[in-house]
Amino acid sequence: MCTGIKNGKDHTFNICNTILFFLFIIIPTVSSSANGINNEKNRVIVIDPGHGGRDPGALGSMSREKDITLAIALKTGEYIQQNIKNVTVIYTRKDDSYVDLYDRPKIANKANADLFISIHANWADSKKVVGAETYVMGHAKDQANLEVAMNENSVMLLEDDYSTKYEGFDPKSSESYIMFSLTQKVFQEQSTDLATKIQQQFRERVNRNDRDVKQAGFWVLYHTKMPSVLVETGFITSPEEEKYLNSKEGQDYLASSIFRACKDYFNEIDSKSSIASARNDNSDQKTDTMANVRLRSSDIYFMVQVTTSISRTEIKPENFSGLKDISEIQANDRFKYAAGSFEDYSEAVSYRKKIEAVYPDAFVIAVKDNKILPLQQALEQKRKTQKDY
Ligand SMILES: [Zn+2]
Repeated sequence: MCTGIKNGKDHTFNICNTILFFLFIIIPTVSSSANGINNEKNRVIVIDPGHGGRDPGALGSMSREKDITLAIALKTGEYIQQNIKNVTVIYTRKDDSYVDLYDRPKIANKANADLFISIHANWADSKKVVGAETYVMGHAKDQANLEVAMNENSVMLLEDDYSTKYEGFDPKSSESYIMFSLTQKVFQEQSTDLATKIQQQFRERVNRNDRDVKQAGFWVLYHTKMPSVLVETGFITSPEEEKYLNSKEGQDYLASSIFRACKDYFNEIDSKSSIASARNDNSDQKTDTMANVRLRSSDIYFMVQVTTSISRTEIKPENFSGLKDISEIQANDRFKYAAGSFEDYSEAVSYRKKIEAVYPDAFVIAVKDNKILPLQQALEQKRKTQKDY
């Protein structure tokens, strides 16, 4: 439910638009190879088509949100798969099936995804409201943004056991959203960066009314452990936009916008990390060894991850809110910084609580040979070795 129109401009789509459309579809393959960076990293993008099955999402006059989100999501995945090298696309659903909110971020976490993109269509009281907006996790700045999150989160009410499953979170009560305002997401910067690129594509290439990058407390964004965005592709309540969202052309445009934003996002990371590694090869080896000393190589340790960064941060207390026990772990194309190192999982959990005030979004990770292991797997391995004694 969004009031207030930033730009009430009328969008009429005609022949110009058709020409633009063909140009737009042809260009991606050309420009993706124009970038000279040799990207050998295997990346995973999880695309989450909102709603599905018994949850239709928002209703327009002739269509349902769940069908629009699926069509755009599948096209986005296709563009990505075809035009970005070494990327695997995983969908939270590929057909009209119901996937609950609880499982969507889990799919992304389990896949150790690099990006999570949730695709939706918006709803407003007024038929005049048009445009696209992209959300990142955060505290809603106004009632309208909060209501978008409330609407999307209220899908969980369709589940019988929602109260226990969602830890007592009430999607319709604004008080429930206070927990989000205390959170500073580890991936806030990267998420905002991707969201900005998506909005830029919508605005500059496909002429959508740009409603900007926004923040609100979405369940699916709160529980993912990677940069994550939720895209509201347009208003199903606007007759003109509903038509666009249901057209092949509109869906292609929106999908290729999201694809291009992802491509730009990864290209930027790659160019930054190649500069950083060139620099680090010469001068930063000392920090590297120091960071590794703390970790005994053969055992599983539990640590508390406090931040992640695409470039290296010097390990000194002033860079980590005064913490003196920070280690660096290099994973994929990122530098992760974790505090403490404990043999016992529960000690790491209580340490996390201790530093919660300075790092509210810190979480426990398992490390072996300076590599991050899936927590569940680490706990099982620990349990096994303890039994052996
Ligand atoms: Zn939705």
